[in-house]
Amino acid sequence: MGIILAIDCGTTSTRVIAFNDTYQVEHMEQSELPLHHPDPDWVEQDAILMWNQTKKCLDATISSIGAKNIQSIGITNQRETSIAWQKSTGLALGSAINWQCRRTASRCAELSAHTELIKQKTGLPLDAYFSASKFEWHINNTPNVQHLLNHQDLCFGTVDAWILWHLTQGKSYATDITNASRTMLFNISTLTYDAQLCNIFGIPTTSLPKVQPSIGHFGDYVVKDISIPIQGMIGDQQAALYAQCGQQQGVIKNTYGTGLFMMANTGRHIVQTKDLITTIAIGVGDQVSYAIEGSVFTGGALIQWLRDGLGIITSATDTQALAESVDGNAGVTIIPALTGLGAPHWKPNAKGMILGLTRNTTKAHIVRAALEAIALQSNDLIELIQNECPAVQFESVLVDGGASANDWLMQLQSDVSNITVSRPESVEATALGAAMCAQMGTSEPSRSNPTIFRPKSDQSRLTSHWKEIFTTFIT
Ligand code: ADP
Repeated sequence: MGIILAIDCGTTSTRVIAFNDTYQVEHMEQSELPLHHPDPDWVEQDAILMWNQTKKCLDATISSIGAKNIQSIGITNQRETSIAWQKSTGLALGSAINWQCRRTASRCAELSAHTELIKQKTGLPLDAYFSASKFEWHINNTPNVQHLLNHQDLCFGTVDAWILWHLTQGKSYATDITNASRTMLFNISTLTYDAQLCNIFGIPTTSLPKVQPSIGHFGDYVVKDISIPIQGMIGDQQAALYAQCGQQQGVIKNTYGTGLFMMANTGRHIVQTKDLITTIAIGVGDQVSYAIEGSVFTGGALIQWLRDGLGIITSATDTQALAESVDGNAGVTIIPALTGLGAPHWKPNAKGMILGLTRNTTKAHIVRAALEAIALQSNDLIELIQNECPAVQFESVLVDGGASANDWLMQLQSDVSNITVSRPESVEATALGAAMCAQMGTSEPSRSNPTIFRPKSDQSRLTSHWKEIFTTFIT
């Protein structure tokens, strides 16, 4: 058996990871991906750069491993981010509208009469987070999109479809079912694009990629006459869920990346809840498994903002020592609504706040409060799932993603939630899930030797203060 490559096109970076047949990492290439904010509520990225960086990382990995040693490729990606491109040239039109972008919040508010219909058909709350209103925005605002749509020369897609299209030089225009389930145009019962929803947003189904199961042949990447099959495609959170839990039902994972995403596979059943998302966990053949998901928009992004926005740290890894350097937060609380609030609040226009500043406040207190905000938001998700979905097991939570490498944060999570936190040896669960799909689901990685964090201290005062702050400031 050969090497499997996982392309992980995340929010903050693109990574290509080469796994051997026991899922050990043989090689990795990574390139940071900048985010742009032309308006305070806007978040966008350069779609061409996204592809160029992916290609650069991929080609560097292939030349290190040797094309003939590579068995297959799997793709995983930041979900919902919406790109429009010209079918005949492959040129992107405008920017990639990032999943965190709130530019369509007022449009979603206008459509509020459809809230129940959308939830019932797609499992999603009507929110600017998902792709439908972003595609519609492209039609109404991005030069040439309406014109090309009229001439059947336009492709809409999420990052997976965009990368696949370029990898195959326009031969494959497809997405996988997990990514499709995030567009707010996909009916999770019938497993097809929903004509009524496409009509509401003015998006013809002919301008959307073909939907395939997450495991299967998506096309080939040809390097010097060697064709490498692309055999897996899956949204990043679903990939992490697959890597952490396989197809096991009711086991909870939390990914600490740009956002925080808590998920559990619910098997063949659609579980509808009030404030959680119902989504597709994975599609294999003609079978799908569903999942429930709690999505928080600002997780590790808060740490990135401390670095790039405030400039009070030079690297995300500085946060652990700074948090440990003080006894407490000295009364500082951060409401991390940098791009609105997702679960459990669903307040697209909420703004962030730093509360409790005094002359004694230092950057260490602010950093500590930021890490606390990450753990406390994750705890809100745990409580939400416990309330809305009692079938999910809470013996422990399996963690992954960039910020889960922070031991202080993981211990705090365990204390705040009074739960065992289990972190696998490699926190690259997203790439691993894509590699498992590319391996056609035929094998699973060893899940031995996790690092376990057990509750050590009572954090109930921190939690109750957090709840009071939200009740006071977020209405
Ligand atoms: P994504 O896939 O969304 O790009 P990653 O899983 O790569 O995210 O994680 C990157 C995020 O994790 C960044 O927002 C970064 O600020 C945060 N992060 C990385 N390392 C740490 C750390 N040691 N402590 C806290 N946050 C961290």
